[in-house]
Amino acid sequence: MADLHIVGGSRDVAIVAGRVADAPASGSPVLDARGLLVAPGLIDLQVNGAAGHDLTTCPERIADVARHLVRHGVTAFLPTVITAPPDAYTQAQRAIGSWRQDGASATPLGLHFEGPMLSPRRPGAHPVWHLRSAAVPLIEGWSRAAGVALVTLAPELPGAAVVIDELRRRGVIVSLGHSEASLVETRAAVDAGASAITHLYNAMGALEHRRPGLLAAALAGTVDVTCGLIADGVHVSDAALALAFRALGADRIVLVSDAMAALGLPLGARTFLGQLAVTLTVDGVRDAGGRLAGSAAGLDVGLRRLREATGALVGDVLATATSTPARLLGIDDRGHLGVGAVGDVVLLTPGLDVVHTVIGGRPVSWFSARQLSL
Ligand code: ZN
Repeated sequence: MADLHIVGGSRDVAIVAGRVADAPASGSPVLDARGLLVAPGLIDLQVNGAAGHDLTTCPERIADVARHLVRHGVTAFLPTVITAPPDAYTQAQRAIGSWRQDGASATPLGLHFEGPMLSPRRPGAHPVWHLRSAAVPLIEGWSRAAGVALVTLAPELPGAAVVIDELRRRGVIVSLGHSEASLVETRAAVDAGASAITHLYNAMGALEHRRPGLLAAALAGTVDVTCGLIADGVHVSDAALALAFRALGADRIVLVSDAMAALGLPLGARTFLGQLAVTLTVDGVRDAGGRLAGSAAGLDVGLRRLREATGALVGDVLATATSTPARLLGIDDRGHLGVGAVGDVVLLTPGLDVVHTVIGGRPVSWFSARQLSL
């Protein structure tokens, strides 16, 4: 944990012993932020992998993924395990339990289990043969204290309400997704304790004006939920991004990358999402049948896309990747740069290109082709 004084940017930030302070320590190193936006480190709630590593099959690679994410301005994330056999979930819990900060990595704040209690009608790229109905024995050992921060499930599955209530009691955020839930089923799930929706628009029923479901409930504000949104330019059109932003605002939208092993690999690379073989194409990450299987775009790409699509203020766009995800997770020392917050900071150009990421007061910097235009 280090001291640092960030000066000359959109705001000055003093970090003392890894935390934001109201004044710099004497002799503190200075980071020149002239011309740059100074924002809290980004928080990504859906990261399946990066740099060739898939976290469903190899959760012991959390450290490699964590190290990669800082390039994208991400300083905290939820390693995400898709639908898999029960062992995969316990292995991931073991892996996150043994992770240690090395001073240059994003911090895993807990796991996101996306499955296996999903609708077989909306599996996306998940293996349907591992899908399960909702049942309390299935979530044995799943709790915030045991490393599980968020679970995505389909609320229309029989038994879902009991599972949602149980997870909430154990401090786990429940997010609804991979679902064809009706309005009534969505409401019941939120009443039982669900507080989020996973990747709005993707892997759910479309907006049907005579038969509203999960999507309509979210956009209309019928239920009080925070919605994950993938803005990689492939998963959701710009018009649909703008609609969600207009309906929900920065307080109810969490930008997620849904990044998978292909993040950081060259175009044409072949890799895996869980057991599924995929290729990185110009039109996103696709399996042999052309289905989308996660994203190869970092969260910074999403920020730029979201701003372009919505014309929103930079502060509002940044909120979807900082204060809003922190609030959803119930974490009060991240997502802002008030005194006492973790000293994780991202410095961006006005065009939202990442220039420096600071971890616990220590700048982790690099030089990329995009930054040559500075
Ligand atoms: Zn998904």
